[in-house]
Amino acid sequence: MGWLKGQVALVTGGGSGIGRAVVKRFLDEGAEGVGVFVRNPDHVAQLTEEHGDKVVVHAGDVRSPADNDAIVTKTVARWGKLDTLVGNAGVWDFMTGIEKLSIEQVAESFVEVFGVNVLAYALAARAAAAHLRKSRGSMIFTLSNSAFHAGGGGPLYVASKHAGLGLIRQLAYDFAPDVRVNGVAPGATMTPLRGPVSLGKNERRLSDIKGFEENIAASTPLKFVAQPHEHTGHYVLLASKENSRATTAHVIHSDGGWDIRPL
Ligand code: NAD
Repeated sequence: MGWLKGQVALVTGGGSGIGRAVVKRFLDEGAEGVGVFVRNPDHVAQLTEEHGDKVVVHAGDVRSPADNDAIVTKTVARWGKLDTLVGNAGVWDFMTGIEKLSIEQVAESFVEVFGVNVLAYALAARAAAAHLRKSRGSMIFTLSNSAFHAGGGGPLYVASKHAGLGLIRQLAYDFAPDVRVNGVAPGATMTPLRGPVSLGKNERRLSDIKGFEENIAASTPLKFVAQPHEHTGHYVLLASKENSRATTAHVIHSDGGWDIRPL
């Protein structure tokens, strides 16, 4: 028996990386089912093969209101309720400073990065709102050490993750007392996190950066780079109605001690 016995969740960006690990962990913790929002149609078959009828998978774009409505509707149609929304899909800007870009590229990449990292979280929250109020459930959003510090991305990514923090705090305020709203802020993690199309970096993956693991581990107090599954316990804790009943508007840092890193 696990901490999420009988719960139904929905995870965006659940086809890879942290989101995929959260899907697996929620099912291991006894969740009845998980709706999974993916971008890559190949992930539909992969997740269904791995988890069978414990998942409902929808391929689409998290910036689309219709796709957000579709995965919420499919999830609730299958299991009759929704207890937890995990907003997690994201893009990284590969630390691109604005002076490296034309002014038009700044405008385009702002729309794309904020569209995926901020707007999509608001859309998912809106799509799931009524079901979460009914179940007195919770929302959990994946932030980053970049929601609190400079240096983990370029200005657009860092600004988008800071905006995510504001979104969590205001949603927590608006949805209390019915729905708890919290976040998890991972630090560097070995995943295929991609860049924006508008920067021509959508085929680049963070995990392919040469020396990434060694360099980040060396500058992190705990001296390692996390694997996706190493963050998942925080999502379980925040989703658990028994174990987190009094926690809202809070973000758990899972970044190897970024606050205390040596300068
Ligand atoms: P990932 O690329 O494995 O996961 C991100 C997922 O989002 C992918 O499956 C991708 O297909 C999906 N996605 C991107 N754009 C989409 C769109 N328009 N529509 C639908 N889906 C879309 O990388 P990850 O590292 O697991 O990222 C998950 C979250 O973790 C992101 O919010 C990211 O900002 C955050 N994060 C990652 C790190 C890291 O070092 N990997 C550090 C801090 C925070």
